[in-house]
Amino acid sequence: MPIPIQIGDIIETKKQHPCGAKKFIIMRTGMDFRMQCSGCQKQIWIERAKLEKRIKRITRNGENVEF
Ligand SMILES: [Zn+2]
Repeated sequence: MPIPIQIGDIIETKKQHPCGAKKFIIMRTGMDFRMQCSGCQKQIWIERAKLEKRIKRITRNGENVEF
């Protein structure tokens, strides 16, 4: 089952971005995801499979999303 990730979700990853931030905002979903780093504002394209492996926590409207 794919993890139900939606635009606007805040993803916390196991591995931090080079800038030190661990939270990313989902900008676009599909085969690949585009997300923006909460630290340096850089936007990253990432494959779903890769992203799913890195997810530690998903927050939507301030609440944790179970996955
Ligand atoms: Zn960053």
